[in-house]
Amino acid sequence: MSRFTFESIRLPDTAEDLRQDVRRFLADEQAKGGFVPVVDSWLSGFNPDFSEKLGRMGWIGMVWPEKYGGHARSTLERYVVMEELLAAGAPVGAHWVADRQMGPMILRHGTEAQKERFLPDMAKGVSYWAIGMSEPNAGSDLSAAQAKLTPDGAGWRLSGQKLWSSGAHRCQYMIALCRSGPAGDDRHGGLTNVIIDLRDPAVTIRPIYLISGEHHFNEVIFNDVYISEDMVIGEPGDGWHQVTEELAHERSGPERFLSTMPLFEALVQVTQHSEDRYLQRELAALASELAALRQLSLSIAGILEQGGNPVVEAALVKDAGTRFERKVTEVAERVLQLGTNGEGGVGVSDEIAANSGIAAAETLLAQAILHGPGFTIRGGTNEILRGIVARGLGLR
Ligand SMILES: Cc1cc2nc3c(=O)[nH]c(=O)nc-3n(C[C@H](O)[C@H](O)[C@H](O)COP(=O)(O)OP(=O)(O)OC[C@H]3O[C@@H](n4cnc5c(N)ncnc54)[C@H](O)[C@@H]3O)c2cc1C
Repeated sequence: MSRFTFESIRLPDTAEDLRQDVRRFLADEQAKGGFVPVVDSWLSGFNPDFSEKLGRMGWIGMVWPEKYGGHARSTLERYVVMEELLAAGAPVGAHWVADRQMGPMILRHGTEAQKERFLPDMAKGVSYWAIGMSEPNAGSDLSAAQAKLTPDGAGWRLSGQKLWSSGAHRCQYMIALCRSGPAGDDRHGGLTNVIIDLRDPAVTIRPIYLISGEHHFNEVIFNDVYISEDMVIGEPGDGWHQVTEELAHERSGPERFLSTMPLFEALVQVTQHSEDRYLQRELAALASELAALRQLSLSIAGILEQGGNPVVEAALVKDAGTRFERKVTEVAERVLQLGTNGEGGVGVSDEIAANSGIAAAETLLAQAILHGPGFTIRGGTNEILRGIVARGLGLR
């Protein structure tokens, strides 16, 4: 049976120094009204001005080489910046996908010309990218992607549709997984990743509204879009390998357990004077789970730092992490909404109600409830992730 690799990681002093810089920056920004903390800020906090400021601080594209606008810092330093931004509920949604996923993919598999053309603007926080994986009949099963690339001279023509493309209506580019040839016996052949300029008139972007009425999701329809040869990533047909590597980056970060961190912090704030033992136990259980998740997630950052591809470990942490995010919401619901005397032993409503932070906590709870359904689905559903873990352990 295979084993997981979860080595314990100690953050270097440079990372802890950096943490203080990020905290100072965030406190300053918040004090001058630069942002109001939100739950799930890496999806819903789309703020180009804020992203540009982070770009100027050198906190996007941190690990990329300097010649592409990066800052040649370590993965662990980047990790610290990410966790501070998420914990503060800062509006990082505009650049998140480019920094986490599309930049690294271009860096690993793109041509020199693609690196020079696209990476510097991503690192400046002015270039925003969408993920084009899911389709109406190919969400969990990406090998069933049907968006079709047909050869056309030196380039290709693209027809088909992508679904659930977060932020596509505000992004300039998408990297889409498309079908360029037959799937072959293992169903993983004939897939190709291409860069699409979403401003092309042959691309139609239609909104799908969230239960809250917010517009993050889209349907993206390709009406015979011309894709020049220089917009293909790596070799045609090599898309499966690229996309599975990309998913390790997509699934492994601290955003998979910190989406509700601003709510957790608010909850601790408003209940800090409560002597209710039941409540204290619930918060302590959440805190210890958070500490364990953080160690596992940091360990994955360490594997990535060494150039590894922690697919199975990332699946495990994403499954456990997104369930934790939901648990924070459930505890907050019990405490803030059902916290009348005697209900579930949480008899602290008067103390909590007297706290000046209660209104902010309730707003964060409302955001968490409305965004919660997506936590365990996006980036691969929990059922699928458990299948990956089982296969990694040799159990299926
Ligand atoms: C907030 C959010 C943001 C997203 N952003 C993007 C984005 O930017 N770009 C993008 O491409 N996609 C995005 N997605 C799509 C997301 O990754 C897919 O929704 C997800 O992978 C599931 O695919 P599906 O919706 O087609 O469901 P399906 O694949 O149809 O699955 C439906 C259900 O069946 C289960 N299931 C399916 N196959 C199996 C199996 N073999 N064994 C056991 N159970 C199975 C699934 O686990 C799930 O519960 C986003 C989703 C959310 C919620």
